[in-house]
Amino acid sequence: MDVPTTILTLLGGLALLLAAVAAAMSIRFHLGRGRADRVWSAARYDTLQDVGAVRRLSILPLIDSKTAQDDLAGEPGVAYLVRADDTTILFDVGLNRHGEHPSPLLRNMQALGVTLEEIDFFVFSHLHLDHVGGIKQQRQRTFALSGEPTSLAGKTALVPTPMTHPTAQVEVVEGPSVITPGVVSLGPIPRQLFFMGWTPEQSLAVNVDGKGIVLISGCGHSTLQRIISRAEMLFDEPIYGIVGGLHYPVSGSRRQRAVATGKWPWIPITREDVQTSIADLHRRRPRLVSLSPHDSCDWTLEAFREAFGESYQELLVGREIVID
Ligand SMILES: [Zn+2]
Ligand SMILES: [Zn+2]
Repeated sequence: MDVPTTILTLLGGLALLLAAVAAAMSIRFHLGRGRADRVWSAARYDTLQDVGAVRRLSILPLIDSKTAQDDLAGEPGVAYLVRADDTTILFDVGLNRHGEHPSPLLRNMQALGVTLEEIDFFVFSHLHLDHVGGIKQQRQRTFALSGEPTSLAGKTALVPTPMTHPTAQVEVVEGPSVITPGVVSLGPIPRQLFFMGWTPEQSLAVNVDGKGIVLISGCGHSTLQRIISRAEMLFDEPIYGIVGGLHYPVSGSRRQRAVATGKWPWIPITREDVQTSIADLHRRRPRLVSLSPHDSCDWTLEAFREAFGESYQELLVGREIVID
């Protein structure tokens, strides 16, 4: 075989291999989408009884893309400190892209006067790098608050898919469950993503006395429609608000994240998709909407701000959102 023939043979082999990988991923995606829809349709729940309510809810973003002050670290991930009366929950632990110690999360906690000791529960929305503290953590199905080990002995972490941690007690949430009076996990709602695969995600729902349900979302892969629908299945109270990620990258530099939308990779999320979701949310007349910039573009943030007016609050690291 001469050299050009060898090269042609190699290229042909490579093309075949790529085609096989693309076909396998397409089949996985197609089957996974069907499975996610079946899981969703089968998951019917009665209204939760005796959930309780909290008088005061505060959500302090510790990690997200935009910050309220220059001395706080911003990164495209999520970590929100949720204080529901006397219970404190850390919802996700950010990205820590460079594996730093102390991580952006720990540095922001120190700057904002938040200590590990005050955290009663860790809740993880889903097993993606920007929520569990890095790509290594995602691959190893674990989470980390920083580049060096942090002891979480005696702490409980509630996760939507099997994960482990060297010191924390990890519990998989199988369905809707009350974490503490007034604070509920909606339970995992799965979505099949083309590149990132099967992704169960849980959101929090906090019943604020006399106001209604405040939803707290991580990436929002489950979709706004299903998050709201699950909350309305579980509660008689109205939706008061939603805070966090809903994954609407439709323009600008974050467009590449359209790969994690739950659509085929060549079908991007459109402005019409965003407007449909805004209309769905608008029908609930929410009093609080605060969209995470970590997985939505500036165009979407502006569309939400315009649609919800005085109810809209910019989501910034270091700026506490209080409902009482
Ligand atoms: Zn995310
Ligand atoms: Zn995600």
